[in-house]
Amino acid sequence: MRSLMKSRKKMSRTTIARILDAFHDSSRVLITSHKEPDGDSICSQLVVREYLESLGKECVLFNHGDIPARYRFVTGVENIHTDISAYDFNPDLVVVLESTSLDRTGDVASVIGDGVRIINIDHHEGNTLYGDVNLVDDRASSVGEMIYKILSEDGFVFKGTTAENIYIAILTDTGRFHFSSTTPDAMRIAADLIESGVDTRRVTDQVYFSMSEPQLRTIGEVIQSAEVHLDGRLCALTLTRALLDKRGMSFSDFEGIVDYSLQINGVEVGVLFKDISDDVTKASIRSRSNLDVAEIARKFGGGGHPNAAGVTLEAPLDEAKRLIIQAVKETLDRND
Ligand code: 5GP
Ligand code: MN
Repeated sequence: MRSLMKSRKKMSRTTIARILDAFHDSSRVLITSHKEPDGDSICSQLVVREYLESLGKECVLFNHGDIPARYRFVTGVENIHTDISAYDFNPDLVVVLESTSLDRTGDVASVIGDGVRIINIDHHEGNTLYGDVNLVDDRASSVGEMIYKILSEDGFVFKGTTAENIYIAILTDTGRFHFSSTTPDAMRIAADLIESGVDTRRVTDQVYFSMSEPQLRTIGEVIQSAEVHLDGRLCALTLTRALLDKRGMSFSDFEGIVDYSLQINGVEVGVLFKDISDDVTKASIRSRSNLDVAEIARKFGGGGHPNAAGVTLEAPLDEAKRLIIQAVKETLDRND
């Protein structure tokens, strides 16, 4: 553990100590993360809950947006509430994970009362440091990795569900140990977790190889929608409500399919467009080069990591496509 901490100046021991003090001093804790939660945010929330409950704290977990289908097998996931109209809790501490700003928690932000202490733990560049204590490390593979380091400092031993959930956080946020976030620390922690008994084959099968037949067929249609632009450097995929309605499915059944946008050799930027409504389009943007797609997302009010970012545009699908493709073109032209 010591060697893990030494390599991470951004994980300051003082800040970790302040977070642990806040955890120990709390009684009722709200744990939340960004809207449209993913594997890292869901699993990190569940681990923080198990740790706090082991200290005898009362915890409530709330997220804005459905749990994606591929994470519904995760142990404890039924404890994450998503219907904010049913919120009835009076926390003395709020833990916000993986959210660049408080707004990123969506509806949950509106129930956080004034004056409640906020702990902000994130690995996104550009975090607005909205917490009373802020731990932000943009070099961490995942918030799961950060949680592992923080709780290890308190002597917490990861085994069973907590080991598996940190493993899933790292597995999914590194794209199965593929993205540049696959750091030595991420691998070392994954190795520790495997040693403590995580069944890597079962977990990977559950996350990535447990689709229903309609899901696979829908993905086939999304792949058919591929448009290649900018001399083969950009691939755009589209997932529409019309397609989902036809198959009786929802956007949360397709978390992660943006990855198909980077499958073609020579494509540098991949985008998945989703028509959330007639006037609102979500774009998930990925890159495999040094091209910083978070910068592109930020231009339109979004954000993320250099190789994986997202933005919700107040624009119909066609207009959103035009805007994003143009912005990618300008960035590529500038970098050439
Ligand atoms: P995704 O495209 O899978 O939704 O998100 C990719 C990355 O970008 C994640 O790290 C996610 O947190 C971030 N991201 C997605 N949408 C937004 C957004 O609207 N604002 C910000 N700040 N980050 C986003
Ligand atoms: Mn993450």
